[in-house]
Amino acid sequence: MLNILIIGNGQCGNRILDAINREAFGKKSRFAKFYSQQKYKSNVQTIAINTAINDLKEMKFTKAKDRIHIPHLHGVGANRNVGKHVFEDNKANILKQVEERGNFDVAFILTSASGGTGSSFTPLLVKEFKQKFDFPVYALVVLPFREEGTLYLQNAAFCLRDIRESGADGIILADNQFLKQMGGNVESAYNGINDMIARRLLFLMDALDSEMMMVTDLGDFKTVMSGGAGLATIGFYEADSEMPIKNAIRESLSPSGLLFSTNVYEEASRSMVIIKGDRKYLSIDDISSEVEKLSSSVGHVFKGIIVRNEELPQVLTVLTLESASELENLYSIAVDAINYEKQKKDRVNNDKEVDRAFSQIDGMDPSY
Ligand code: GDP
Repeated sequence: MLNILIIGNGQCGNRILDAINREAFGKKSRFAKFYSQQKYKSNVQTIAINTAINDLKEMKFTKAKDRIHIPHLHGVGANRNVGKHVFEDNKANILKQVEERGNFDVAFILTSASGGTGSSFTPLLVKEFKQKFDFPVYALVVLPFREEGTLYLQNAAFCLRDIRESGADGIILADNQFLKQMGGNVESAYNGINDMIARRLLFLMDALDSEMMMVTDLGDFKTVMSGGAGLATIGFYEADSEMPIKNAIRESLSPSGLLFSTNVYEEASRSMVIIKGDRKYLSIDDISSEVEKLSSSVGHVFKGIIVRNEELPQVLTVLTLESASELENLYSIAVDAINYEKQKKDRVNNDKEVDRAFSQIDGMDPSY
């Protein structure tokens, strides 16, 4: 049995964690967190960390003892410098709470790249973990909608670089902008995106800790994640009973299945394909021929099969990337955003107009 730690940092990380816990509780009532047992096969510990107490209160399926509030008035206001200081002041408390939960085989840290708390806490937390513990640490990082503004874009650019430099064993990318095509208002788009991410992570945990017909395990996952440029993404597809399993595998690798925009056949470096469902849907020949096609352009592909009676076929693909053209696009608009913010600041510093306006009443008092 694996011991898995999942930490959700900041609002986005908290919400995805709550979506994971909701699935794990089996979508029971909102009071599930007070009494029920989670349905994980592994020993999974979840911790939500935030400076904003309201974000923690909003969680419905994560136990109160699993929510750590780091007091700092009303959050850190998208300022990563403030966030980093707050983390340093509170890291002893955070690490103590992690250590009290025992030993782990693997940790996942969920965060947005662009806010304040999650984006500043995550790289520093990864660094502390890598210094203190010997389990692999993976960050699942949510990229912003591109129209969310200059501060979020610049945060995303610096946060991703910081996580890479923190010693993380891999970064799994999920892109709000790419996933927005699901439609709906922002609130429901968030919920839809969070559910997509939650389902994939739960499937992954299931696969790492299963008695499979063909086995993939944590060792294989580590090997996949160590390939490429330290970046990865995850695909998923659930087929109906009519769809050939070959097509389901292809769908999981297509834009509608992936969490981040990439041409798998051009950019992927290593992969893990796990197929789950009733034996009647799982033609080994079809699975093998489709996986061979993928490995001819990707390199090594680990393959796992989990037999679950009466279940429709589902496919999960983990892909590490050796290049990511979409990330280059994001960095080029982030550079524009950083320059824009800098110029604006310089303008304000140089601009004496407002001071001139005020100086007109220097030495004067109001007369009534
Ligand atoms: P923090 O609490 O200071 O870490 O900031 P947030 O996590 O709110 O970061 C803001 C970024 O996260 C923006 O790019 C939002 O679009 C994104 N975000 C906030 N909440 C959610 C959510 O529930 N799901 C997803 N997918 N993105 C979110």
